[in-house]
Parts: sequence; C-alpha cells; structure tokens
Amino acid sequence: MFISISTTGTADRPATDLGFLLHKHPEKAQRFTTSHGEAHVFYPEAGAELCTVALVLEVDPIALVRRARGKGRGPSTASGAGALSQYVNDRPYAASSLLAVALRTVFRTAMKGVCEQRPGLADQERPLTVVLPAVQVGGGAERRSPDERPLVNRLFEPLGWRVAATPVPLDEAFPEWGESRYLRLELTGTLRLADALQQLYVLLPVLDGAKHYWVAPDEVDKLLGAGEGWLADHPDRALISRRYLVRRWSLANEAIRQLELARLAETDDREAEEFDNAVDLDRSDGPESVAGSTSGTAPDVDADTGSGTRSADGPRPVPLARQRREVILAALRESGAAKVLDLGCGQGELVGDLLKEPTVTSVLGVDVSVTALAAAARKLKLDRLSERQAARVRLVQGALTYTDARLKGYDAAVLSEVIEHLDLPRLPALEHAVFGAARPATVVVTTPNVEYNVRWESLPAGHARHADHRFEWTRAEFRDWAERVAESYGYTVAFRPVGPEDPEVGPPTQLALFHRGTGTTASTTPTTTGTPTTTGTPSSTGTPSSTDTPEGS
Ligand code: SAH
Repeated sequence: MFISISTTGTADRPATDLGFLLHKHPEKAQRFTTSHGEAHVFYPEAGAELCTVALVLEVDPIALVRRARGKGRGPSTASGAGALSQYVNDRPYAASSLLAVALRTVFRTAMKGVCEQRPGLADQERPLTVVLPAVQVGGGAERRSPDERPLVNRLFEPLGWRVAATPVPLDEAFPEWGESRYLRLELTGTLRLADALQQLYVLLPVLDGAKHYWVAPDEVDKLLGAGEGWLADHPDRALISRRYLVRRWSLANEAIRQLELARLAETDDREAEEFDNAVDLDRSDGPESVAGSTSGTAPDVDADTGSGTRSADGPRPVPLARQRREVILAALRESGAAKVLDLGCGQGELVGDLLKEPTVTSVLGVDVSVTALAAAARKLKLDRLSERQAARVRLVQGALTYTDARLKGYDAAVLSEVIEHLDLPRLPALEHAVFGAARPATVVVTTPNVEYNVRWESLPAGHARHADHRFEWTRAEFRDWAERVAESYGYTVAFRPVGPEDPEVGPPTQLALFHRGTGTTASTTPTTTGTPTTTGTPSSTGTPSSTDTPEGS
C-alpha cells in the first residue's frame, strides 16, 4: 500500500518544511512497526520547490487473518470471506483502512496539528497533492449517488480538494481486458497538513467500506476527534459516519447525533448572523433602528456586550453562542463566583472561557454525554494543561435529574441551553437537584425564546431550533417557570436578554439569573428541599415566599 503527499514551496516557505510538519527528516528513510505490518517513510523528492513524502505499508495478509480471528471475526473483504480469499486478497496493494491506521501511527503528532520545532507552521495552509495509486472503492449502494457522482468526489470535493480519479487497467499489457476495480486517486488542494491527514484517516476506510479491525465503541470518539472542524459540515456526514463505523447502527447514530449537535450549535450562530443582515436591509427605511437598543447610531458599539447588533457596514456580528457566553460570564463576574458548575457543559466552550477568568478558581463541567465530554476534553486540551491549570478544572459524567453530592459547595451553576433538552416531566427533578440539593448562591439558566423563531429565516415555521429540543418557551412561560422555581427554593430571579432584542418578539435567547435568598428564610427552611413540585402546580405551594421582589438587573 502506498500513499504520497507532496507540497510545493518558495524560497521563504520551502517545501521541505514538510519534514518539520511530519516530524520526519527528509534525508532519512525510516521504518515503523504498525499493527498490520511494516511502514516505511521516505522522501523521493526533497527540494525547496517540491517535496514529497511517501509511506509504504507492507501488509502481512496472514497476520491480518489471524488478528481478525483473534477478535472473533474474519476479515470482511468486499467479495466475502471465502477460505482462499482470506489469504489471497488485495489488502497488500489497495489503500484502505489499514493505510489509514498506519498514517495515524506514523504521523500522529502531525495529525494533531502540533509542530513544536516550528510553532505556527502547522496552522498554515499549504498546496498539497496526495497520490494513492490504488484505491478500491467499496461496494454498496452508496458507491454512486443518485446523481451518479462517484463517491470519491462526494467525499473529498466538499472539503476543498480537486479530485482526479483514473481507473487502473486490469493489466497494462492487455488494455482490451478493461478496467480493474481500482482507482488511481490524486487529490490537490490548499489545506493545513493536519486537516489533510485527518480527512484521509477518516475517508480512506469510508471509501474502502471494509474495515479490518473490530469496531469498538471508542471508534465514535476517533471519528469525531479526527472529524473535528470539517465533518459536522460535510454534506455526506451521515454516510461517512455509517460507512466509517461499518454500519454498526447504534454507533453510527450516536456519531450522527453528536455531529448534529455540533452543527446546530454553529448553525444557530450562522442563522443569527444572517438574520442580523436581514434586519438591516428590512429596516433601513424605518424611522428608528429596531435591531437592538444600541444600533442605528454607532456601528462599532458593544460587539461584546451581547445586547446589540451593528449596522450593515459595521464589524462582523458576534455569533449568538459567543454573546450568550459573554452575558453568562458577566453575570458570574457580578456575583463574584469563584467555584462554578457548568451543568450540561456539552463540548466545553464555556468551561474554556471560565478558565480564562482570573477570579474563577475551580470549574466542574457535567454532562450526560460521554462523547460530548470526550470532545470537551479534546478541545480544552486537558491532557496538556499545566498542573496548576489542570487542578482548576474537572469534567464528569452525570445526569442532572439526580441529586449528586459532587455538585455541592459551588458558588454558581450555569445551565446554558440545557433545560429544553429534558422532557418536561423530568424538569422538576432537575430543579430539585440544582436548586434544592446543590443550592449554589447563583444559578444562571438560558433557553431559547420561542417567540423569536419567526425571525430565523431558515427555520421552517413551527420547527424547534434543534431536533433534540423537547420544548421551547415564550418569554412568559420562561418567566412563570423561573419565578415558580425561585419561590419554591428560596431564590430571587431577574431576567436578561441575550442577542439583539426585537421589540415584538424579544431576544433570541432568554436568561434567568437566580440568587439564593440571604439565609433568613427559604434556604434555611427544611421544606424547600422536599419533594419537588410538579410542573403546572401553582407556585404558592406552601413553600416560603420571601422572594417576591425580583432584584433589578
Ligand atoms: N451548555 C452547552 C451545551 C448545550 S447542549 C452550551 O451552552 O453550548 C445541551 C447539553 O446538555 C448536551 O451536551 C446534553 O448532553 C446535555 N444534557 C441534556 N440532558 C442532560 C441531563 N439530563 N443531564 C446532563 N446533561 C444533559
């Protein structure tokens, strides 16, 4: 199996930088032992203008069969696993998942985008050409799409590659025998090398369609890890997940769900930006700008206060998710919280921001999804933090509908875009766990304002913003809920907008800021931590109500 990667260069950015990026010296040929055979790395060409690295993997087909047997299943070659085909197969020649594994073994650091010797180099996009002399495109209905675009084009073109795929003749000496099942694949594009390697790592097995090692649950993490930054937006992400996970449906579904979560978080932002632009156009003839309290006069206002928007030629609008975090951080700063819980922390963006706050001494991120936590750990580079930083942060798995002793002793808790992911009947259990049992002094809750949905241009009428939202509330519904919770558990509550506040439908996101009552009444009254009331129960259920004066914001 063979793959080569070339780059071109100039005097000030020589092509031989490839050696630094790959952590492999251009003048040395090296050999590595991988789980499927010997891998050789060498540079057929290493000049300032053109540099090519080649990786050759010598697969031992017999060892392969033994390995697969050891794991309880035979190799699944495309043609089925007949006795002879187990030993005489195309594995030694055709690029496949085995090559992907070898790429990862040999270029692990480069794939992570780390280049310690020349920091900055790994972030640069370079002209790259990848050549795979023999690729077998696995069978299955997906080999060609309904529009007859070959799978290789569908997989690589959306990522910015130009694809040249030439069928390899069965035998060059006998052209009349026709084409073999293999393609010579040449990909050209301008990309970061780490991205290119990650894409190959995922897409080679996807093309091949016949993985040779056991698909364990951690393959989902591998897929999401290598797919970070490109897979969530790939139009064929579902097909890629299914084929990568070799149709282990439950795993593929989990991967697809996580990709949707990541994508929708971003889509949310993009839609917000689109909407902001639309507002400017729609309202430009109005007497007053209504796209936010601060727009209209000053185009450069408050990009980071999270409350306004900007005029058409002002700076780029701040993504809604960013604005949300800013409003949350501002509320936490005001409350003086040092120990903070991020409940339903997802992929850890807020945790990352909290760690940048000098006054925050410890952060506990909690989520029910192991995959989200794994992504958070990856993004936060938890394995590379200094000891002092590492001591400030912990991510744990937990379900927020159960009381949890680990949540005690914190100053503040954040529930950012989490409550709407719970079925309504489960919400009182969360209220009890957070407000009744953990009882931090400050609780910040954000949730979509459903009234604003009519302003998302690309959201079909009546649709929730996210497939996993179990409900979305109007401002009045959110206010009712928050006031009832505050009253039941001895907190005061105030409300803040996140994002541009529309005069008719309000802001895109609504935020409730709870403060625990100051000790004299509710919080010390034993009944407050009793069985939570069910939703719909009137708020005056006998729990103390010293808190009916919401504090101003
Ligand atoms: N707080 C993040 C993520 C919001 S997405 C942000 O603002 O971007 C909602 C998150 O809540 C998901 O990561 C989901 O796994 C988590 N979640 C949903 N129900 C949960 C539960 N019952 N317990 C813990 N986490 C939950």
